[in-house]
Amino acid sequence: MDLPDKIKLGYQDIKIEKVKSDFFNPSDNSGTFSDLKSTLYIQEGLNRYEDINVFIHEILHGILIQSGICGKGQVLEDDHHAELVTNLLANGLVGLFRDNKPLLMLIYASLHEFEEEQ
Ligand SMILES: [Zn+2]
Repeated sequence: MDLPDKIKLGYQDIKIEKVKSDFFNPSDNSGTFSDLKSTLYIQEGLNRYEDINVFIHEILHGILIQSGICGKGQVLEDDHHAELVTNLLANGLVGLFRDNKPLLMLIYASLHEFEEEQ
């Protein structure tokens, strides 16, 4: 299963594009999130595990940016701090799901049940 071409994230419809690595932020050498273009870029040629890790990492950047916490005067205004928080969350979540795969099925089933109850 490949990554989707687009996802909904908060108020945005986000396109997902595979690209050759040429990102402006050296610490994001496998992906980047453009709020202005509503696009998540992921380097071509990654293995599936790296693909998911970069995907989750960039999604978390998007969530943090949308929240306003990375804005001027906010706690994650500094790009280095935002990157550290994004990294720890992405690596923590991907590790959690890798080591506890039934959790993903539980989350999926619970969200479906919730939607059916609405
Ligand atoms: Zn990053």
